[in-house]
Amino acid sequence: MIQLYIPLNFLGVIYREIKQSLTDLDRMFTLMDKEREVADAPGAQPLDRLEHPVVRFDDVHFAYEPGRTILHGVSFEIPAGKTVAVVGPSGSGKSTLARLLFRFYDVQAGRIAIAGQDIRTVAQASVRRAIGIVPQDTVLFNDTVEYNIAYGRPGASHEEVVAAAQAARIHDFIAATPKGYATTVGERGLKLSGGEKQRVAIARTLLKNPPILIFDEATSALDSANERAIQAELQSAAQNKTALVIAHRLSTVVDAHEILVMDAGRIVERGTHAALLALGGRYARMWALQQSDGVNGL
Ligand code: ATP
Repeated sequence: MIQLYIPLNFLGVIYREIKQSLTDLDRMFTLMDKEREVADAPGAQPLDRLEHPVVRFDDVHFAYEPGRTILHGVSFEIPAGKTVAVVGPSGSGKSTLARLLFRFYDVQAGRIAIAGQDIRTVAQASVRRAIGIVPQDTVLFNDTVEYNIAYGRPGASHEEVVAAAQAARIHDFIAATPKGYATTVGERGLKLSGGEKQRVAIARTLLKNPPILIFDEATSALDSANERAIQAELQSAAQNKTALVIAHRLSTVVDAHEILVMDAGRIVERGTHAALLALGGRYARMWALQQSDGVNGL
């Protein structure tokens, strides 16, 4: 009993941390299938019509705990194949949108729909198969680079792994290591920088090739060359996908179909980059601030 209890409890702790940080979700769902907070409705069917899905949030209200509402009626739509970016100060509810779309929690009022289907009514596993997440902090397995990328689609061939690594611009780095794709990474192997890890996560997601993408931009400071590189990778990862980008740098969002500016759980401004600059409000002020001193004004 003790033997069983300790590992499960330990996994439970990791699971809660991971749920919070959007890290290595797929793996944890496999391990912790029983620990879900939301349950499938009896007879729930898998998501359907996933070719080019539209994602909709309709008047979504949400609280993690009673009495402290975090989202106060959030509505937006990500058209098929487009990118919507969310910006706003820390704690404004950006990551909460991602957690709800992945159905870690159910909304208290309103609804979230993928391709017209309320995600509360369909099989949860099918929602998670349809979504690829590039988290802020990717945890790599203590295994080879090949394994870490192929994890996106078990059974992928070496050629497919290399193609994904090339698209994520991490191939040259891997090829330059003495053991190439057989190099062990992670805590007990080659340590990768935050940006390199995020590229491995992008390669993994490209292999998984889900129709919906959530990109949680790393908050860590980047030099401008790295910033441009990440933007290019994001663009290749988001191509033809319905994408939600949680952005900490405004340079990442200029091409988004729509930018949502969140504050205290509400969308306070929305529009394209050009429209928001013309509005001369909050976004325009954040933009001016980031341009003038490069400080992360979000
Ligand atoms: P950041 O830019 O710092 O990541 P964010 O805009 O993504 O912030 P969220 O993580 O969505 O913000 O958090 C919104 C609010 O919800 C915060 O006030 C936070 O304290 C609260 N919150 C987040 N996770 C939980 C949780 N598991 N339980 C209770 N409250 C939570």
